[in-house]
Amino acid sequence: MSAHSVARGHVAATRFPRATLREREALLLDLAASIPGAMFRLMHRAPGTWQFVYLSPGVEALFEVTPAQACGDHTALLGCILQEDRPAHDASVRAAVARSGPWEHEYRIRTGSGLVKWVHARARPTRTADRNVVWTGVFTDISDRKRIEAGLRASEATYRTLFETVAEGVVYQDRSGRITSANPAALRILGLTMDQMQGRTSLDPCWQAIHEDGTNFPGEEHPPMETLRTGFPVSGVVMGIWVPDRGYTWLMVNSMPVFTNDQVAAVYSSFEDITRQVVLTQELRRQATTDFLTGAANRRSLMESLKAEFERIRRHPELCCGILALDLDHFKRVNDTWGHTVGDAVLVHVTQLMRTETRLHDIVGRSGGEEFTLLLPDTDADAAVALAERLRRRVEHTPTVHEGQPIAITVSIGVSVMSAADVSTDDMLARADDALYEAKHSGRNAVRLR
Ligand code: GH3
Ligand code: MG
Ligand code: MG
Repeated sequence: MSAHSVARGHVAATRFPRATLREREALLLDLAASIPGAMFRLMHRAPGTWQFVYLSPGVEALFEVTPAQACGDHTALLGCILQEDRPAHDASVRAAVARSGPWEHEYRIRTGSGLVKWVHARARPTRTADRNVVWTGVFTDISDRKRIEAGLRASEATYRTLFETVAEGVVYQDRSGRITSANPAALRILGLTMDQMQGRTSLDPCWQAIHEDGTNFPGEEHPPMETLRTGFPVSGVVMGIWVPDRGYTWLMVNSMPVFTNDQVAAVYSSFEDITRQVVLTQELRRQATTDFLTGAANRRSLMESLKAEFERIRRHPELCCGILALDLDHFKRVNDTWGHTVGDAVLVHVTQLMRTETRLHDIVGRSGGEEFTLLLPDTDADAAVALAERLRRRVEHTPTVHEGQPIAITVSIGVSVMSAADVSTDDMLARADDALYEAKHSGRNAVRLR
């Protein structure tokens, strides 16, 4: 087809050079009959009267009105429009006539057999030589589209309600990990506004996320980031998120990929606030591992730590760990003189001194009544003896004060160092006990090394 023929609008003539006028008319009629709706020409005569001058056969299937009936009386079609849709229809017609521009409108009709259908109408005006205006256009049946739209709206409303009302937090993140939407539960659980959430990624430092054991939970390892990276769902991950004025909020997080054309296009995460359960578990664990009176590690957890440390030393024999066995001197006299309650206060006080003299990762354990064991990872014999000596002096010079009265006490300390050559943890404990026995026999308030 040449540009020349297109420009002159002789497409049909070029494709079918020998087509007669009658053949072309037949083609147009065929086309008109095949569209799902009806083509029309509507004459608007100057005095304001309307008349259909052409209607394709499809009008009968759509309106249940024949072309002849509608051409005889244009109100045959107008009469089908639902009463409640009529004012908007007429207003749209008046507006199109006033501006002499294209008309487009959607409305409902009721056919003679009682069917209600949605119609989309569009037409363009052309002024004729005799100053009339002819509107050429199409009526299309859009009932199916309207039904689908209504179905989608209902389904969207259902999911929207679910999203808005579930107790679980739900957050959407785009492919780059940026938050694009979050439900009210998510905002409440995280203590953030939508403005604060929008656009943030998992890498934002504000989350200060941690694992249950207190170690850092880096942003790139958060469940949604893992899902974006691998395309796999992640479920049941526990993470603590820092919420200002509230402290750590604990979440159980699941994340699901959203695919578009086989590519991960987004991720949504759902999470439950499990702070109460985590805090309760932490408290139960604390109670199970600590001594009620002093808050020091209890015997059971002390032995577990000792075993774990021994395993570490066996794997890395170049490492060392100091062990201190402590026993308060003549503690029975404190009880006898001041009573059991004051004796308890002395035990708490001495535990506090041991804490302040040791590092955070040293373990202060109460192994018996007035006996304690200290585990000092990465501490050799010299350093362990130095610490024991410092602790002995500190206890001697820092009496417990009860009702303004200083209650002095001293401590005897046996020191041993864990070695990969030890057969069991009993070996090193026995050495520390032997050293303690020596300290006691040397006159108490002393440190001995074995
Ligand atoms: P030594 O210098 O030989 O260690 O003398 P000691 O008096 O400290 O040793 P002994 O084993 O004779 O006495 C330990 C005392 O510790 C006896 C017990 O009543 C007391 N005791 C044990 N557990 C507790 C406790 O929880 N609270 C109090 N107040 N006293 C305790
Ligand atoms: Mg004792
Ligand atoms: Mg004692």
